[in-house]
Amino acid sequence: MPNLMDFDAEGLSAWFSELGEKPFRATQTLRWLHRAGCADFQEMTDLAASLREKLLARAAIIPPALISDRVSGDGSRKFLFDVGGGNAVEAVFIPENARGTLCVSTQAGCALECAFCATGKQGFSRNLSAAEIIGQLWQVNRLLGRAPKEERIISNVVLMGMGEPLANFDNLLPALRLMLDDNAYGLSRRRITVSTAGVVPGIYRLRDECPVALAVSLHAPDDALRDTLVPLNRKYPLKDLLAACLAYLEKAPRDFVTFEYALIDGVNDSDAHARALLALTRPIPCKFNLIPFNPFPGSRYRRPRAERMRRFTEILLAAGKVATTRKTRGGDIAAACGQLAGQVQDRRARSDACGVSFVLEEQAS
Ligand code: SAH
Repeated sequence: MPNLMDFDAEGLSAWFSELGEKPFRATQTLRWLHRAGCADFQEMTDLAASLREKLLARAAIIPPALISDRVSGDGSRKFLFDVGGGNAVEAVFIPENARGTLCVSTQAGCALECAFCATGKQGFSRNLSAAEIIGQLWQVNRLLGRAPKEERIISNVVLMGMGEPLANFDNLLPALRLMLDDNAYGLSRRRITVSTAGVVPGIYRLRDECPVALAVSLHAPDDALRDTLVPLNRKYPLKDLLAACLAYLEKAPRDFVTFEYALIDGVNDSDAHARALLALTRPIPCKFNLIPFNPFPGSRYRRPRAERMRRFTEILLAAGKVATTRKTRGGDIAAACGQLAGQVQDRRARSDACGVSFVLEEQAS
């Protein structure tokens, strides 16, 4: 029985036509489901009773179940969702004045094993379905609906939670299309950001199939260092990654790529690193988003001192670049970047050194 949350508009209308139903019925259902946040066919009152019965017998609406909802001292909220099989994933809502950003997960765990990331340390279980990805938005929308008005707007979505979005492209795509659809969440392309550790073929696919804002987790200005921090770099080195970024800008909704750079004490935070970063990215219209390293249990790295981070930022600014430092939010509830751990049953062969070959198989299938 299909879960209607897995379908974007096109998928839903194809399924309705198999049922012998007109496309506008699919649109009505889509609006109920995502705009009204309705999970009960019987409440979809402008559908004919006969259609409602048919839907009840042949389809289900299953969002991921909420396990917990924790509020941080700074107002950010971390939601934990059950995705079955002993796995749970996290989404984080970060309110800011009149807007709010929801950070969404795309996989239970992550196969990339970036050296400084808690999710990577946990191993990889599986890709989330489209329903589980969009379901985070669906659930949080409903839960925020009960909060005071000014705190309940999801104006931006960032695919920066657990997992590598571009290693789960087929399920990411319908979820992105729902976020963009006026009959669903109606967000503009520039308010949705996909962040990738550098899955190069995925960047080209995203450009061609659904160009939204792109963020790339760079973290190092040369291959030797990046190989150690982001093992995926051994498969897709900086030259290929930067070429993909440039190509992405042909279709990107913003005229720049955002480079994320986690500042790690004594590892990638020197003046020389900052200058090398400028030289490396010179051909690419870009902004830098610096993320002070967020510690997690068992992590061997440290955050640089404030003065070092300030100096690193200044070098970028002096070169005329835009460089922002990501405010650490939700640190007290382990909801900051790189701290999302949820609960993951690692199903990956540990012998598979850096997970790269696994990700490629996933992509090929
Ligand atoms: N896999 C995607 C999505 C994760 S986004 C990607 O790599 O882009 C989460 C962002 O936080 C990435 O830029 C990631 O590299 C960064 N990050 C991971 N662990 C971190 C940590 N401990 N401190 C600060 N940033 C971290």
